[in-house]
Amino acid sequence: MTGYDDQNIFAKILRGEIPSFKVDETDRTFAFLDIMPRSPGHTLVIPKAPARGILDITEDDLAAVARTAKRIAIAAMKAFSADGIIIQQFSEPASGQVVLHLHMHVMPVREGIALLPAQTVKADMDVLADHARRMIAALAG
Ligand code: 5GP
Repeated sequence: MTGYDDQNIFAKILRGEIPSFKVDETDRTFAFLDIMPRSPGHTLVIPKAPARGILDITEDDLAAVARTAKRIAIAAMKAFSADGIIIQQFSEPASGQVVLHLHMHVMPVREGIALLPAQTVKADMDVLADHARRMIAALAG
């Protein structure tokens, strides 16, 4: 395993060099919509600290990511009238990880509707903007 590369796309999103549909931010975490969602509301939760994956993240940062993922999951259930939530985290390319900054996928699912395959279709920006608004409203309670 090699080290953390601060030129990865999520590091650029964190630094504001690349735009994203942000739905939540804490002192340790940042959450934004996946640009190729596998379900409506598919959100990525990342630590602000530089970490490639589960193998190098600190326990405290991982706990912070998990806490945010739980809040995102509850909000996504409400915002997308979901029936369940899938959480996924891949560490290292052999596992399927493509972006080498730790991220937890939070994917709301509806009964009987399969997830889209990973990383296939870029969502319409207006749709993502609407989904971000729904998530932000649900997070606000
Ligand atoms: P991984 O396989 O590394 O767990 O998944 C990376 C995820 O990042 C994929 O679901 C992909 O759609 C998403 N993604 C890749 N590039 C971008 C981007 O520039 N912006 C956003 N919001 N998501 C991205």
